[in-house]
Parts: sequence; structure tokens; C-alpha cells
Amino acid sequence: MTVDANKQNVQSDEKQHKVADYKRDLKPVWCTGCGDFGVLQALYRALNEIDVKPENVGIISGIGCSSRLPGYMNTYGFNSVHGRALPIAQGLKLARPEITVLAVGGDGDGLSIGMGHFPHAARRNVDITYIMMDNFIYGLTKGQVSPTTPKGDITVSTPFASVDTPLDPVKLALSFNVSFISRVFAGDLKHMTTMVKQAIEHRGFSFVHAISPCPTFRGMEEFKRVRGAVNYVEPDDEDLGSKAAAFSREEEVPGRINLGLLYRARRGTYDEEAEAGLERSLKKPGKAPAMQEILEAVLP
Ligand code: SF4
Repeated sequence: MTVDANKQNVQSDEKQHKVADYKRDLKPVWCTGCGDFGVLQALYRALNEIDVKPENVGIISGIGCSSRLPGYMNTYGFNSVHGRALPIAQGLKLARPEITVLAVGGDGDGLSIGMGHFPHAARRNVDITYIMMDNFIYGLTKGQVSPTTPKGDITVSTPFASVDTPLDPVKLALSFNVSFISRVFAGDLKHMTTMVKQAIEHRGFSFVHAISPCPTFRGMEEFKRVRGAVNYVEPDDEDLGSKAAAFSREEEVPGRINLGLLYRARRGTYDEEAEAGLERSLKKPGKAPAMQEILEAVLP
């Protein structure tokens, strides 16, 4: 097993769990053919490959079709408030560092009302995984334009076609200094499972941009359209740690969808930085007694 010991999820070399252990008997209410089914399956499998105890996992979501996901997991979960999965997930991880914490939600949830939380989660680098299920539309509210809807697309709220330039979650993540960035497609379960597993195992804030088509509001051809545009990448170690290389790869061919691990860097997590900062403060002459007093007053 390779999971960080901090997560206390490693059992032994022999697997203790089955994929079924992560599933709840509640049946998903997603439409037939929804990409979210694939993401859910990948998450079951990734957790099973890591062999984390279901009771040591917390999955927090916002509001939207994809945010129903925690209800289908036999783990702890919270289908919370629109756009607020990230602050709740960070709070959970800081309070219970030994558990594996994920935030999940859609493009509308994460890039509209919840957008303000994304850069701050990235710069804090709290050790959680954020899976954004991007279907390029608001599905739950019946097909309005979302922050990632392609320019020119007709939706119920843009009957004469969207004139907005769509956001690219991966480019945003790169500019926010996210320490692990990958992109997956709900039509490739095996690849998704590998990427989600790696994201969970990464120490720090990891981001998975999961392209998860909505056939109901974007048509039955959506899977085919995405499949025709995907391009699997495997950057070498040097390129993997270069934001410039990741940006150029994204810009290289318009319309191409790069899948894979796109960027990774190891930098101090929030708890590591906070601990180091505290140690530095305690060592400062003249400051230590006051700090010690405060700590003794607040710590149990
Ligand atoms: Fe999935 Fe779209 Fe149906 Fe929502 S509306 S469940 S995103 S197919």
C-alpha cells in the first residue's frame, strides 16, 4: 500500500475491502447515460484500490446533479450548500487529519457561486481531493448556460446562443497553483480510477477535472463528441512540474481535450506550514512564553 501514513487508511498488504463496501444500496436518480455514473464507479474502485476503510472517508458536496454523489457512498458524507463543498471539506480535514476527505460537485457549483473558494483552497494546500464533474451545463435546474458551456451553444437561458467565453477549470487550477491537476473522462473508467487514486494519494490539494457528459441537456452525441476530442498525455517528470509546459499543452490544439496527470508539484500542506510556523514562533526570543501561554489556554 502506498497511501500516506498520515491518512491512517492502510490496512495490510492483503486487501480488507471489496468495491461493494463503498456502495450504498440507495439507487442513483441520475438520468440514464449520465456521466456521473462513471465518476461514481471510478471513486468506488479508487477507494477500494487504496483499501481505505469506508468509515475513514468523508465526502462533501455542494448542490447539483453531481453533488448527489455522497448519498450513494457508504462513507461519511454531506450534501451541503451550493458552492460550499470546499470550505467544509477543508474544515473537516483540519479537524480530522487522519481521514481521507474529498469534495465533489459540478461546474456550476464550483465555478459560479463557489468560485471564490477554489483559489483559496489551492493556496492553502489542505490535503484534500476536489473532483469537479463538468457537464458544461446546469443539469439539476434544467439546462441553463454554465461557466463552462462552449461559446455559441444554445441553452434554455441562451436561446440565441451563449456569447460568453467558457472557463477552463484546468487553466484556472494551474494559475491558482494547485499542487496536483488531472483531467479524466467519464467514458474511460480505468483511466479515471487510476487518476482519482493518484489524486487521493497526493499529499496536498489535488484537483480532478472530470468531464461528465449530460445527455439529457446536451444531447446523446455528447459522449461521442468528447471521445473524439480526447488526447491522452503522459508528461515526463520535468514537464509534469512545469506550469508553463502544462499551459502550452492545453493551448496547443484548439478544441483538444488533454486527459491524464497534467501537473504535479510537492509543496508544504497547510498543516505542515502551520506546524513549521508555530515552531519558528516558539523559538523567537521573548515571544515563546506568551505563545506558550496562549497555546496552553486554547489546547485541550
Ligand atoms: Fe446527469 Fe444531466 Fe440528468 Fe443531471 S440532468 S442527472 S447531469 S444527465
